[in-house]
Amino acid sequence: MIESKIIQQLMESNSIAIVSHENPDGDCVGSMLALYLALKRKGKNARMFLKSNVPKNLRFLPAAENIEVVDRIDVKFDVLVLLDTGELERTGIENIENCYSKLINIDHHVTSEGMGDLFYINSSSAATGEIIYQIVKLMGIDNDKEIATCLYTSIFTDTGGFKYSNTTSITHQIAGDLINTGIDFVYIINKVFDEMSLSKFNLLKDVLQTLELFEGNKIAFLTVTREILKRNGASRDETENIINFAKNIEDVEVAAIFIEEEEENKIKVSLRSKYYIDCAQVAKEFGGGGHIRAAGFTSRNASLDAVKENLLRRLKRDLR
Ligand code: AMP
Ligand code: MN
Ligand code: MN
Repeated sequence: MIESKIIQQLMESNSIAIVSHENPDGDCVGSMLALYLALKRKGKNARMFLKSNVPKNLRFLPAAENIEVVDRIDVKFDVLVLLDTGELERTGIENIENCYSKLINIDHHVTSEGMGDLFYINSSSAATGEIIYQIVKLMGIDNDKEIATCLYTSIFTDTGGFKYSNTTSITHQIAGDLINTGIDFVYIINKVFDEMSLSKFNLLKDVLQTLELFEGNKIAFLTVTREILKRNGASRDETENIINFAKNIEDVEVAAIFIEEEEENKIKVSLRSKYYIDCAQVAKEFGGGGHIRAAGFTSRNASLDAVKENLLRRLKRDLR
């Protein structure tokens, strides 16, 4: 069983680094922290690295303060664990390819092929946190409230609160097990999902004004320019989930949000669909990836208008 091999490799290693993708989300941070805490409980020497700051709404999570935000890694670890992405490049961390002896990749994206010495890619898992849940359990760690808090966050965020089509009965069973440890899920949900800073509230007001609708309202676009972020004193991670407002409009099948990054002509595009558009496929064609109803890509050499035009043309082809 691949999980046992992964655990064996981890237990045989003296130094372990855990990494995940740039612009971290709840699944990324939650699964990193859960694995980190489990390894610590086993007396292992583990460290966590991210390229970007932990989003404000996730900083309450246990051990979140131990995540090191870095541009590059120059230390060598026995094992590097890459979570919630199938590509080392998506960590955005320089020199990462030279910082390990063995690489373990754990992910749930349908577009991930798996990489490294050991990999476990399960696209039927709603979140990487579901896979980490199994691994932690097999490590013999049960009923750990801190780990459960992190895993619940992973699963809750990646399923949009058990609402997206990736949610399964297993997702609910795992959530039930996690609740049985006594976690304060009301507090977790409020922190990670509902509560927002005033700057996020103001950002939201401005971004909603950018709505563009096409093809009889089946396609919706939202735009976050650098100027909008700056004007509202909002951080990049506060754009998370705004896309759902566009997706939720009646008649909309597919929504996209275009986020201007610091670098000129670097645009992050997120895609969400309601019933039939394969976002993973579309994102893949633009050099990204993800899941069937939620995917994304980063465009690096075209203007905002050109990216919009290209994506619009591609999406029109799949409309029914
Ligand atoms: P996002 O739009 O960033 O919220 O991402 C939606 C889903 O697609 C998440 O599961 C991401 O991990 C995945 N995703 C986003 N961008 C990329 C990319 N460039 N390559 C592969 N997967 C991506
Ligand atoms: Mn993620
Ligand atoms: Mn995920």
